[in-house]
Amino acid sequence: MIKNHEIHAQRIDLPQEADERFSIGIDVGGTKIAGLLLDGNKEIVTRATVLVAKDSTDALLTTISGMALSLLESVPLEMRAQCGIGVAVAGWLNRESTYVRFSPHLPLTGVHIRAELEAQLGRPVVVANDADAAGWAEFQLGAAREYDDAACLTLGTGLGSAIIAGGTLVRGHLGMAGELGHICIDPAGPQCPCGGTGCLEIFSSGTGAERAAQRAGLLSDVDSQRTMTGRELVAAAAAGRSDAQAVLDEVAAPLAQALTMVVGALDSGVLVIGGGFGSASEYFLETLRRQYAQLAPHPESRPIVGIEVAQLGAEAGALGAALLSLLEI
Ligand SMILES: [Zn+2]
Repeated sequence: MIKNHEIHAQRIDLPQEADERFSIGIDVGGTKIAGLLLDGNKEIVTRATVLVAKDSTDALLTTISGMALSLLESVPLEMRAQCGIGVAVAGWLNRESTYVRFSPHLPLTGVHIRAELEAQLGRPVVVANDADAAGWAEFQLGAAREYDDAACLTLGTGLGSAIIAGGTLVRGHLGMAGELGHICIDPAGPQCPCGGTGCLEIFSSGTGAERAAQRAGLLSDVDSQRTMTGRELVAAAAAGRSDAQAVLDEVAAPLAQALTMVVGALDSGVLVIGGGFGSASEYFLETLRRQYAQLAPHPESRPIVGIEVAQLGAEAGALGAALLSLLEI
């Protein structure tokens, strides 16, 4: 039985620590559920993907536990009892990571997800916010592995983030630390679906980039009937189009400003940018680095913090969920 419902997430020194346990990580996104099984060397040995059953909470929970059970079948029989199971979800969790306060794209709002999954599986399950899980994976195995203090941002449809401080995943008073996507950047800006105004993710995300391209009337090179996607915008700017660069600067500016606040508050050693939009191109990061450097205070005495591309790609959330599960079980 789990004695402590808080995840005291501290770095496991890999692979030095003799931890032979297998672990399952499942990332429940807005459209698909991606799962993987890690062996004792933290190598991925099995993967699974299914579409999200969005019509009912029960169907979604059953799909998650069904995937966990099928991945468990690939674990050698004598290792199964010790195998961790971690589930990352797109949503705001409570501090104990047992309950979903709010999930905009999944039928999980108000669900005691941990108890439900543990009842279905008959064994402990660790639940985490998807951006926290992805950041934890980058901290353990990816772009932030050399640091004890880092901020890992995931830029896709929205903007999620994880804060690592002193080697610990910061949860915060309510379990909602690191919600950088919903800090107010422009008090006169548009309403955000979260209820706030002028939130960072409205401007600096894949969706924000598309909105900016639309406002500027930038048409796709591939299909002139539609405006550019975020990735097309980055590609056009990288190819030297000044109109695209001006829009990309608009997208990067609020993020650069937010990053100075993060570093000012936390003294992060590295800023890791991932997600479908964030990691799409080194060129976007170059734009971001340039803007950040212009805002950073007193570079003569305080070295500019590195902004690095995430290394673990789309599997970071599932990987992080698997690694977090080993901390508690
Ligand atoms: Zn918001």
